[in-house]
Amino acid sequence: MTRAGTPRHVLAIDQGTTSTRAILFDGSGRLVALRQLEHAQSYPQPGWVEHDPEEIWANLRRIVPATLRDAGLTPDRVAAVGIANQRETTVVWDRATGRPIHPAIVWQDTRTTEQLDRLAAAGAGDEVRARTGLPLASYFSASRLAWILDAVPGARARAARGELLFGTIETWLIWKLTGGVHVTDVTNASRSLLMDLRTLRWDEGLLRLFDIPPEVLPEIRPSLQVFGDCTELLPGVPIAAALGDQQAALFGQTCFDAGDAKCTYGTGSFLLLNTGRQPVLSERGLIPTVAYQVDGAAPVYALEGSIAVTGSLVQWFRDQLGLIRTAPEIETLARTVDDNGGCYIVPAFAGLFAPHWRSEARGVIAGLTSYVTKGHLARAVLEATAWQTREVVDAMNADSGLPLTALRVDGGMTANNLLMQMIADRLDTTVVRPMVAETVSLGAAYAAGISVGLWPDFGALRRHWHKAAEWLPAMDPARREREFEHWQFAVTRTFDWPH
Ligand code: ADP
Repeated sequence: MTRAGTPRHVLAIDQGTTSTRAILFDGSGRLVALRQLEHAQSYPQPGWVEHDPEEIWANLRRIVPATLRDAGLTPDRVAAVGIANQRETTVVWDRATGRPIHPAIVWQDTRTTEQLDRLAAAGAGDEVRARTGLPLASYFSASRLAWILDAVPGARARAARGELLFGTIETWLIWKLTGGVHVTDVTNASRSLLMDLRTLRWDEGLLRLFDIPPEVLPEIRPSLQVFGDCTELLPGVPIAAALGDQQAALFGQTCFDAGDAKCTYGTGSFLLLNTGRQPVLSERGLIPTVAYQVDGAAPVYALEGSIAVTGSLVQWFRDQLGLIRTAPEIETLARTVDDNGGCYIVPAFAGLFAPHWRSEARGVIAGLTSYVTKGHLARAVLEATAWQTREVVDAMNADSGLPLTALRVDGGMTANNLLMQMIADRLDTTVVRPMVAETVSLGAAYAAGISVGLWPDFGALRRHWHKAAEWLPAMDPARREREFEHWQFAVTRTFDWPH
């Protein structure tokens, strides 16, 4: 038993693409208080996306004390801090002044595409993939770090002298919170294109390839360990975990065993499958990544399938077509009809991500006849999310040899019951939604709590995880496969769109 007065709360920091949240959980994993602040999105040129790291830090300085006040807690009541962060977003700052030398370059930014095309043309792709598991894509952080070192006069030489520091957002926040501990968590490092996926070390060959001085890099650490004690905001409280946001959601969904999978349905969607102690190199457009690593233990890996457009197709239907006023209304409209009327929408708005990775593809509405109504279109919008998930799951099953038995879901779109049934039907798999929808923050909190011994083991976390709803597959198999063929035919119509 814990003595009265022992800190029993965990603070999760979820630093996301559009906002930063501070969330307090109690010893039973219940959400006690939540504060959130958005930060500015800057688009200086087409394809460029930047954030101000100082603004993100300033937001954190406001929301952490406010969250504690809301819960009536003082910092000494907090046992640990866990961080989940938007992944791949790149910051470089001055070690002496703590000032960023350039705005953060965000994961969506495509300015380094040509740089990577040149490396691919020179034949670097195979070696990079063999070491990191990743394709040479602007999605990851290495090319952005190289870009900043090129763009800011004198930066590469200063980096080599140890005067500059690189990090993804968790590195930046830990450095700020601890007053100078320069570390990265291994899940974030696994998405840099610079880390060897098996040794979990920075790879000298890759550093040479991207012309990165090793002095600029943070130390790679397990995700569940004490990175340092806070000197700011929560003096003396240990930062006991850090994970990329999608890995945190996997942890928050307690997907601890090989074969466990979750999908987060938001603007885009991210499906992660725990593959156990071995990384699985995909032949089908999925990304192997570190899921988490407990201090002193071997890492656990995951296969990831990223889908670019899911919830944002609902937004498009609402804002660009004006056929609904709110996102939830799509369910009401879709329920006015029994099926899609033969219509399929493939939302390749900016190409297709997993499993196709076709940047030239553009969206189509296929199968139109005069029979089709806006109700059918609403169905086709929702089915697009379900079929895209099916494509990723098929690729995962084939790559991993671990057939999916149930899918745990979270994110804004999971409020849509019709969509959840469509996903269960099209995957022919049970879909499960948990009580606590804030799985990213919950994962960060769980990881930090385990790390400081607030919870004894993963079994304790599983006991906190409660199912809120479940959908069982109920679609006629022949109809499912016939419609999947139609979907796949529609997908091929998006390819090779002339530009
Ligand atoms: P993110 O974290 O990516 O910002 P959220 O998890 O907050 O996303 O989910 C928001 C997305 O979910 C939006 O794109 C919105 O269109 C979609 N969405 C929200 N509610 C519904 C609903 N009831 N049905 C379908 N889509 C929805």
